[in-house]
Amino acid sequence: MNVLIAGAGIGGLTTALSLHAAGIDDVTLYESVSEIRPLGVGINLLPHAVRELTELGLGDELAELGVATSTLSYFNRHGQQIWTEPRGRAAGYHWPQYSVHRGRLQLLLRDAVLERLGADAIRLGSPVGDARSEGGRTSVAVVGGPDAGTRVTADVVIGADGIHSALRRQQYPDEGAPVWNGLILWRGTARVRPYLDGLTMIMAGDAMQKFVAYPLSAVGDDGLQTVNFIAEYRSEDPEPGASDWNRGADPSAVLGRFADWDFGWLDVPAVISAADEILEYPMVDRDPVERWTFGSQTLLGDAAHAMYPIGSNGASQAIIDARTLAFQVGTVDSIDDALGAYEAERRPRTTALTLSNRSMGPEQVMQLAYERAPGGFGDIELVVPYAERAEIANRYKQAAGFVPELLNERASLTVPVPADD
Ligand SMILES: Cc1cc2nc3c(=O)[nH]c(=O)nc-3n(C[C@H](O)[C@H](O)[C@H](O)COP(=O)(O)OP(=O)(O)OC[C@H]3O[C@@H](n4cnc5c(N)ncnc54)[C@H](O)[C@@H]3O)c2cc1C
Repeated sequence: MNVLIAGAGIGGLTTALSLHAAGIDDVTLYESVSEIRPLGVGINLLPHAVRELTELGLGDELAELGVATSTLSYFNRHGQQIWTEPRGRAAGYHWPQYSVHRGRLQLLLRDAVLERLGADAIRLGSPVGDARSEGGRTSVAVVGGPDAGTRVTADVVIGADGIHSALRRQQYPDEGAPVWNGLILWRGTARVRPYLDGLTMIMAGDAMQKFVAYPLSAVGDDGLQTVNFIAEYRSEDPEPGASDWNRGADPSAVLGRFADWDFGWLDVPAVISAADEILEYPMVDRDPVERWTFGSQTLLGDAAHAMYPIGSNGASQAIIDARTLAFQVGTVDSIDDALGAYEAERRPRTTALTLSNRSMGPEQVMQLAYERAPGGFGDIELVVPYAERAEIANRYKQAAGFVPELLNERASLTVPVPADD
């Protein structure tokens, strides 16, 4: 069986590694950029995704690359704590939760693909489009680069080509641009003194304005660590800017919005001021669709279910898609049945998550605290009782598939490959 994957992002690369682990070696990735550079800033890998990468044999590399998150805490815009919970191993998972640099994770996955599948497995500078399924196989057109104008045929074609997916657009030509919720995200990294225990992810604010921070490195000899931040605010503009992950922003505009957000335990303006560069991105997603699979082609990752970066699930869900797809392809006899089972497992779950993220997912507690006590509170228990806060946190873990006991006990998605005689 040969498989063609459109896009060598986190989803596409993990799919290639997962198929290889399931015994399928004839896998080629077509990637539009001519060089994979460590772009982006931080992302989070939740324990369900860390489990999958660990079972792909990347646990040690991941531990070197990432910072194991100890705690997740929510605060209001005055720095008062609304909710806190342990994360990763501290919460009883068998796997940690990591904050990692997105681009470095992509390079780690790329190197593993080249090592395991061979130097020709990734065709750079080769955007693809126009996928046509016929007679049980699918051909795609290479639409740029040295092979532009040729068509490539494969038994299975996977569209892992991100939020602006060409393969999705072909099936949903009237879909248009991603859907914007009016929020602008300013993303950056800064070398600053550690806050709290130096391993905690924090979110402060509400649906109008929010600041997220998490460490991306250990504390250095200079007493500083790299902290990733996302400053969000609700824009008055009627239209979003381009949803391009690498668009720069004016730091003074960001600072102006957060000038009085010094909580004592975290000085938000100081973090923003220390940023090397700030990137701007509108908070966009895609409406869930009713079908991913068309003949022997399907969609995966952001191409299938781009969601708001709420609850830290974008990259994690792409990784779980990849492992689920490879498990089905590696264990089910017919390709139609395998792709059908993959979609039946993943589409309802990611649809529910996309919709949950639209109503703030686990961050709903922040909005409730704001609506009930906009000026701050003396005792959070009198504003949003513990049972209500815990219910919101647990419901999201259920939807996203990372309830500790369920994840720890769930059967592995590794396909048993018979040993050679
Ligand atoms: C440059 C970049 C920076 C990012 N930075 C962040 C960040 O800082 N924080 C965050 O939360 N998320 C970021 N993301 C998104 C995040 O990586 C994804 O939400 C998540 O990892 C799911 O990955 P994916 O593989 O489905 O999509 P993506 O990571 O978007 O990967 C899609 C890949 O497909 C390629 N591609 C696109 N069109 C074609 C085509 N027609 N043919 C072939 N290849 C194609 C793209 O170049 C890309 O490599 C970034 C994505 C990109 C591409």
